[in-house]
Amino acid sequence: MHLGFIGLGNMGGPMAHNLVKGGHRVKAYDVDRERLSGAARRGIVAVNAAAEVAEGSDVVFLSLPTHLVVRDVAIGRGSLLQAMTPRSILVDLSTSLPAVTQEIAHEAAGRSVEVVDAPVSGGVEGAEAGNLTVLVGGKKPVVEKIWPLLTTIGDPKKIFHVGDVGTGHGMKLIHGLINAATLVGIAEALVVGRKSGIDPQMMFDIISVSRGNSGIFQSRAPRMLDGNFSAAFAIDLKYKDMTLALNLAQDLKIPVVVAEAARAVFQMARAKGLGGSDIAAVVTVLEEWAGVTVRRRK
Ligand code: NAD
Repeated sequence: MHLGFIGLGNMGGPMAHNLVKGGHRVKAYDVDRERLSGAARRGIVAVNAAAEVAEGSDVVFLSLPTHLVVRDVAIGRGSLLQAMTPRSILVDLSTSLPAVTQEIAHEAAGRSVEVVDAPVSGGVEGAEAGNLTVLVGGKKPVVEKIWPLLTTIGDPKKIFHVGDVGTGHGMKLIHGLINAATLVGIAEALVVGRKSGIDPQMMFDIISVSRGNSGIFQSRAPRMLDGNFSAAFAIDLKYKDMTLALNLAQDLKIPVVVAEAARAVFQMARAKGLGGSDIAAVVTVLEEWAGVTVRRRK
């Protein structure tokens, strides 16, 4: 199968690479020339525009930062849809807004192009290992066609066909609310514990074998303890995801108090200039107030 891929970032880069390793020819584009040439060194055919990716591709994947960029690439200035072959499929792996996905699907229908949303969870580690969770929205026969490709980037046991177009993106936003609020809770707990005199490594060891443990704790608490804030998932991107989820709740007239508070902490981190840092860096907001850090002894 001839595949296209747009957006070779922290997630897109390894996902595209796994599709190459799965035996597919992958043509790709990214506005960042360094990321594009890095991907070319790993067997990807680099091209110079989104529309070029579409030419001759049976399936085109997107892994882009925001719903606005997705919209722009698909049906705005990127003109991707116009260049796609009839009966080809556009798969959006980004975390995006269901309404935007549905708008793109509506336009695509006029060109006999199908759209599937397939946002992922599991971080850069999961993208590299090819064992992501994938939340799929789309028509059943179309989803069945791309299923083998999804098993190249995700763990077959963790790929879910949620429902119609847009439902994958909706589910992803809901899940994101949980790990964002949990992350801020983890940062608060570690800082309070440290200020009260408990050793950070001791806290980590105890929480790891207790009910407070979670996937997000295992992925981000070690980064907090090591002060490793190089972005695997940037604060700006997570803030975008939280805002999309809060907008969804607002449209449904549901007050989401904890998520609002968590987003405020993310905004404080952005105000400190940490938008490009990893989400684990939210801990520094709490550390600043408390006058301690949670770094473990080397
Ligand atoms: P990233 O910023 O590392 O990658 C995005 C890539 O898109 C960059 O390489 C950028 O140059 C490229 N890009 C931007 N505009 C473009 C355009 N117009 N045309 C072509 N390329 C363009 O982000 P990421 O962390 O890889 O996240 C990608 C998506 O996956 C986001 O929607 C994010 O919310 C979601 N996500 C990220 C994680 C994570 O842990 N990083 C986990 C789950 C979901």
